[in-house]
Amino acid sequence: MSKKKLGLNTICAHVGEIKDEQFKGAVSPIYLSSSYEFLDVDIKRYPRYFNTPNQEYLSKKIAALEGKEMAMIFGSGMAAISHMFLAFLKAGDHIVVQNTIYGGTSNFIREEFPKLNIEFTFTNGYNVSDFEAAIKPNTKLIHIETPSNPLLTITNIKAVADLGKKEGIITSIDNTFASSINQTPGDFGVDLIMHSATKYFGGHSDICAGAVAGSKEHMDKIWNVSKNLGGSLSDFTVWMLERSMKTMGLRVEKQTKNAYKMAKWLEKNDAVKNVFYPGLKNHPEHKLAKSQMHGFGAMLSFELKDDLDSVKFQKALKLIKASMSLAGVESTVLSPAQTSHSLLSQEERDAIGITDGLIRFSVGIESVKDLKNDINQALKQL
Ligand SMILES: *Cc1c(COP(=O)(O)O)cnc(C)c1O
Repeated sequence: MSKKKLGLNTICAHVGEIKDEQFKGAVSPIYLSSSYEFLDVDIKRYPRYFNTPNQEYLSKKIAALEGKEMAMIFGSGMAAISHMFLAFLKAGDHIVVQNTIYGGTSNFIREEFPKLNIEFTFTNGYNVSDFEAAIKPNTKLIHIETPSNPLLTITNIKAVADLGKKEGIITSIDNTFASSINQTPGDFGVDLIMHSATKYFGGHSDICAGAVAGSKEHMDKIWNVSKNLGGSLSDFTVWMLERSMKTMGLRVEKQTKNAYKMAKWLEKNDAVKNVFYPGLKNHPEHKLAKSQMHGFGAMLSFELKDDLDSVKFQKALKLIKASMSLAGVESTVLSPAQTSHSLLSQEERDAIGITDGLIRFSVGIESVKDLKNDINQALKQL
């Protein structure tokens, strides 16, 4: 990149604004047209071509955050990931996938790829040797997720990107959990970076969207498939997403600070057996996380002591909501065994360490003392 990179908060606040030339308004106008003139124009615009003004401009913000040439915005995180995979995989090709990934991604691969004759291997672990061992002559893509859901394992981004380069295989990462604020995988050479924008990009639990960033060459390939699959986002929601992303840095920085404090506090709590958070010194990949993340993120998981009922605990919380999804300004908890990983068998869950008592905690922007008080009062009820 020749342009000197702006700070992440500046990018959040400014990059990709549409100048309101007509009325000089301070924020981007919304262009809801689904029909644009085609004569004498540079770009033939159409919503499903991912190139309406709001889509085009917000993509610039996402590309700038990830330090990539281009980005595209999709109707959901799964639309982003499925369109990305299908752009680089055809019948007879093979993908290597990290074993500990988002349940929806894993289901997509297991349910849809056999129909398309696309081969896949889920790794045995998340060391670079596990990825290397899974590569076949027809491997076209290696997909990682770090920090992972829900156990916050850390994969060495540079090691996997280097492996891809050495073998001539494209690498992709699900950067949702870290968000663009806490991790810039492109700095380590990863080709494609995807997000569920439903999470930190949106941040207020009221938007469903997705995004992918990459080189122009790679994004052109994704566009070619995406215009056929049609998973674009409505311009009104794109505009909402732009508004949300302006404060992403502030939100995520505060959430990350809160998560660190909560992890330290939970670690010392007598009712808690285990805390999984890359910011803790006893996390197995703490040093690696420190070397590749700007911050340790705002997601953590913990297990209550065996005799404590985690479902009862979640019901007893008053401020922290037991709810699906994550990354909102409000703190939420959930049981992965009953939600994101419920489609896996008990055996499969046990194999990847997702116990029935595991609680995933998406830490919000609240005052930490209130979060602690809420957990204390819930524990007292058990
Ligand atoms: C939520 C999520 C997705 C899927 O995103 P949707 O917006 O729900 O389609 C993918 N990856 C991760 C890590 C997620 O948390």
